Amino acid sequence: MRGALVDEKQLEKQKEYALLASAAIKSRFESAPKAFVHTYGCQGNVADSERIQGILCEIGYELTSELSEADLVLYNTCAVREHAEQRVFGNVGALKHYKARNKNMIIALCGCMMQQEHVSEKIRKSYPFVNLVFGTHVLHRLPEFIFRVLSGEKVFCTDESKGVIAEGLPIHRDGEIKAWLPIMYGCNNFCTYCVVPYVRGRERSRDEESILEEARQIVKAGYKEITLLGQNVNSYGNDLENSINFAQLLKKIDSIEGDFKIRFMTSHPKDCTKELIDTIAASEKISHHLHLPFQSGNNRVLKAMNRHYTREKYLSLIDYAKKTIPNLSLTSDVIVGFPGETYEEFKDTLSLIKEVEFTSLFTFIYSPRKHTPAAEMDDPVPRSEKNKWFKELLDTQAEIAAKRTASMNGKTYRVLVESEGKAEGTLSGRTDENVIIEFEGGRKLIGKYVNVKVTQNLTWVLKGKLE
Ligand code: SAH
Ligand code: SF4
Repeated sequence: MRGALVDEKQLEKQKEYALLASAAIKSRFESAPKAFVHTYGCQGNVADSERIQGILCEIGYELTSELSEADLVLYNTCAVREHAEQRVFGNVGALKHYKARNKNMIIALCGCMMQQEHVSEKIRKSYPFVNLVFGTHVLHRLPEFIFRVLSGEKVFCTDESKGVIAEGLPIHRDGEIKAWLPIMYGCNNFCTYCVVPYVRGRERSRDEESILEEARQIVKAGYKEITLLGQNVNSYGNDLENSINFAQLLKKIDSIEGDFKIRFMTSHPKDCTKELIDTIAASEKISHHLHLPFQSGNNRVLKAMNRHYTREKYLSLIDYAKKTIPNLSLTSDVIVGFPGETYEEFKDTLSLIKEVEFTSLFTFIYSPRKHTPAAEMDDPVPRSEKNKWFKELLDTQAEIAAKRTASMNGKTYRVLVESEGKAEGTLSGRTDENVIIEFEGGRKLIGKYVNVKVTQNLTWVLKGKLE
């Protein structure tokens, strides 16, 4: 059985709307109008934006990176932390001036923020120049929305809370080297601080064949790295009947012929299995890198977060992974200042990162999110105090990272060249461990794998020489 697919009739209807939108665009513009798409937040949003861009190109828009020349501006928003939301409101406010200069400019907002009623209400009331707002479950209806906006309507569509998967949408990928491949959507975990399950709905896995077909197309198009995406990739297939599990899916992608690497995110420690770790160890193509967010090193806090694992279980998983996967690189997400966390409890987070020695960390100060259980909890520690803990966390991790990069000095690594470096004549790439390395070399190596010997180690970045 497949996940909750969009019904075929709806997709057919959208094809008709795409033709109507395309005709409306041709009659209104002499040459292709320009669309500026900006994405906030996680790679899941980036992958959604690539489908949005695919649809926009299909109906006749050309993409631009210049806001000032845009006929359509679309912001795909993130609701995970308050800071991200404030930035969106600020940037939407600034669009008023652009619209004053180009009265026909279409302003569209979508993504996780828009799925929250209080946000779409605020947009409706305080930002009347916005033409289109749509939530995370109706992305496939973009041709219809654009057509209706072009016909003079103001469209707000955020109320379809039932999660769906629309296969077969056109995709316009951002890069030519690394590709994002969503394998599932939504989340069932309801960590008490997190808004994602409320704005993205329940877990829905894409069916195996659609994923494999997309992976084959990505490899055929010459991409050198595929990152499989999901909020908790370890529970892939749980919502499907007779489905393969995540480790088995990885093996199938691994067996696609070609010179490419596989990464994935995010793994939830509660569902991370030995089978998965053994699969990584046995594969040539799966990167020896595991992003395994632990959030807190203290068992009381983990319980209050509803994470369903203990510090001990996490550490034993890490221990097994380190023993099993050669040259394993570990990264993680950490939250500082969860409501009620004490300094003593925070120290357990510090001791955990010292014990594991992560390559790098994504660190966050807790941000209250409307309607989540944690937002109702007592939070007596002032922000100034949390900032101090946060700095202590960053300093500790910087020491660990410096030690790690120092241990890489003198060794040779296979590196995927991603772009030009900051200095003239240099290139920037990543090792399998996901560490950035810069070295001298010509542009024609971009997108290729090369061997680079590390000659200098800075805290986060390596310098090296082509071999
Ligand atoms: N599904 C992934 C992460 C999704 S959100 C997982 O479970 O690991 C990415 C990260 O943002 C989380 O891992 C967490 O560290 C952080 N985060 C989520 N909600 C937050 C909040 N309310 N305040 C601060 N950080 C938060
Ligand atoms: Fe949020 Fe937890 Fe789901 Fe990750 S697993 S998206 S942190 S609820």
